Amino acid sequence: MADASPAQRAEELRRELNYHNHRYYTLDDPVISDGQYDLLLRELREIETEHPELLTGDSPTQRVGGEPSSAFAEVEHSRPMLSLGNAFDFAELAAWHRRISGLLDGDAFDMVCELKIDGLAVNLTYEDGVLVQGATRGNGTTGEDVTRNLRTIRTIPLSLRGEAPSRLEVRGEVYLPVDEFHRLNKGREERGEQLYANPRNTGAGTIRQLDPKVTAARNMQIWVYSLNSSEGTEHISSHWNALEWLGDVGFRINPNNKLRHTLEEVEDYYRYWLERRHDLPYEADGVVVKVSPLELQERLGVVGREPRWAIAYKFPAEQATTKLKYIGINVGRTGSLNPYAVLEPVVVSGATVQHASLHNEEDINRKDIRVGDTVIIERAGDVIPQVVGPVLAQRTGQEQVFRMPERCPECDTPVVKAEDDAMHRCPNPACPAQFFELLKHFVGKNAADIDGLGERWCSILIEKGMVSDVAGLYGLEKDKLLELDRMGDKLATRILANIEASKSRPLPRMLFALGMTHVGAEVADLLAQNYLGIRDLANATEEDLTAIEGIGPKIAESIIAWFQAPENQEVVEKLLTAGVKLKQDSLPIAIAAVPSEGSPFGGLTFVVTGTLSAFSRKDAEAKIKELGGKVTSSVTKKTSYVVVGESPGSKVATAEKLGIPILDEDAFLRVLESPADALSEGWQGNLE
Ligand code: NAD
Repeated sequence: MADASPAQRAEELRRELNYHNHRYYTLDDPVISDGQYDLLLRELREIETEHPELLTGDSPTQRVGGEPSSAFAEVEHSRPMLSLGNAFDFAELAAWHRRISGLLDGDAFDMVCELKIDGLAVNLTYEDGVLVQGATRGNGTTGEDVTRNLRTIRTIPLSLRGEAPSRLEVRGEVYLPVDEFHRLNKGREERGEQLYANPRNTGAGTIRQLDPKVTAARNMQIWVYSLNSSEGTEHISSHWNALEWLGDVGFRINPNNKLRHTLEEVEDYYRYWLERRHDLPYEADGVVVKVSPLELQERLGVVGREPRWAIAYKFPAEQATTKLKYIGINVGRTGSLNPYAVLEPVVVSGATVQHASLHNEEDINRKDIRVGDTVIIERAGDVIPQVVGPVLAQRTGQEQVFRMPERCPECDTPVVKAEDDAMHRCPNPACPAQFFELLKHFVGKNAADIDGLGERWCSILIEKGMVSDVAGLYGLEKDKLLELDRMGDKLATRILANIEASKSRPLPRMLFALGMTHVGAEVADLLAQNYLGIRDLANATEEDLTAIEGIGPKIAESIIAWFQAPENQEVVEKLLTAGVKLKQDSLPIAIAAVPSEGSPFGGLTFVVTGTLSAFSRKDAEAKIKELGGKVTSSVTKKTSYVVVGESPGSKVATAEKLGIPILDEDAFLRVLESPADALSEGWQGNLE
């Protein structure tokens, strides 16, 4: 479009940026990298600076974020949640510093350097020290009410320490830690599902879930980075002091924040983190530099959608270009054919990359990636490198369009592709590649946990014909194992002992171990909260399964299909005959209810039974009500917690039967002393 007029190009860029904003902010599913997005935005900004007449009020350069989703109640922000101006190199940072120094008549000022966390901005409101509302940034003026989800994040205090102001608003970045992102993706990979692209969008999607249990099950975190407004904190005169004060009242403040006096010190801070950013347990895409004295912030004010007193000094995007030599296929445990790029080795931010993820055929075609192309590779954090797209200008015409093979590369069975599934799959349950992946999964730590039987031994056992399904493990004999090259007595004994121990592993882990499509650890937990054993589960109908919150028709169908396959029925029978328990004596403790209203116990129902030593039952009930909880006399499915003293009577048994979490007096006292901390532990139902 080199010959397009500035007006045409601006129009085109606006259209494109609006599309990407929608994908990024509303759908949490971007299709281009942040580096590419930033380039487009920069181009539009340059056109608008040169041709101010082309600037429109609704231009993406003038707006913050995306429109709030109608799935949540709207929240009007008391002050707009802004974006940040960017500096992409030291010269741009210095220009910003010169500009504001000029506006401040040349006076020197302190600056706070903070890591720019790549997550989702939230505004938290506290009244009398109690969290009453949490909202996303949305379009900057109106955000989404995601209080219920934010309450499940352990590091967001539900109530504050010390003398709390009557009203307080703070802002911070909620994020998904990188190892948690890997854990989620590992589960998805095992279930043959499409992998999440990056921690930022997965985290943002997690906060914008309708079901708070999904948020609760992921270990989200927060760094609070500003005091937005408060009554009674007039003594705080700088951003640096505000951060200290916020830490004192209980907010999680990043210890890597630093107070800096000169621009050179800021540059040192930036260089330090540029080198070490991958050592952080979260993603940071730059450094935010903020003028510290609040009075100066006030004087500098805001232009458009950006405060003048802060700037995001961005880390360079980690991209490189190289040749795509060919596209390989891995056959996953559930038969998914996973394409991956084999590249001419290239160094991207210090690491040599030879392979990159390509997701599925649809994705390859959408990005128009062809074998032989020069492609852009991006490494975001320590996530598997991605192929961003081809460099079209370097096409020679020799490149080949990619087609998924029609037959499984491992067992030659014709491949199938369901319309609602992004993946092509090998339908042959006896496919050796699938069985190898399944066996590796079955023996894994979070599954049957057969320590000693690593990947290499799994492959040898299959190759020697010693196991042909997972039940085969239970028929292994020591003298046969000892015949294997490099198998010693000690290892054989350990493997067999662990196989024996796996017979009584908890039901959810064994259900997970069986490797049904879409049944990862989280779904296996849900199933085990509702079924006593594999026989009950095998008889479940689609309606039974979809009645469980968190299980939709797709998962239900896949579970039913698994049990219908004769080879799986056979495996279950063999496992049971071998003495693998695959059942539990009672249903486990349910996940505690999540407080839903504006107080620590809002939405929670308690039953108090037995004699407490610290206070009378009446007093205990009064305390619960003070914190916003309800008290009832009988235990039902709707009860959130049962508080149990001495000689409690039959209510305990009912609670156990229904899987209601039980708090003994100690646990109850902990909850009363610090509802925020104790109840956030309690999300996992481990307070009993
Ligand atoms: P921004 O880069 O302008 O910065 C503002 C945000 O930084 C704040 O809202 C806050 O959430 C965050 N932040 C993190 N740490 C902070 C700290 N210590 N102090 C203050 N703020 C902190 O954010 P934006 O307006 O959302 O900018 C857009 C970003 O999103 C860019 O990186 C852009 O590349 C990306 N984006 C990508 C796409 C895409 O399609 N790939 C689309 C839209 C936006």
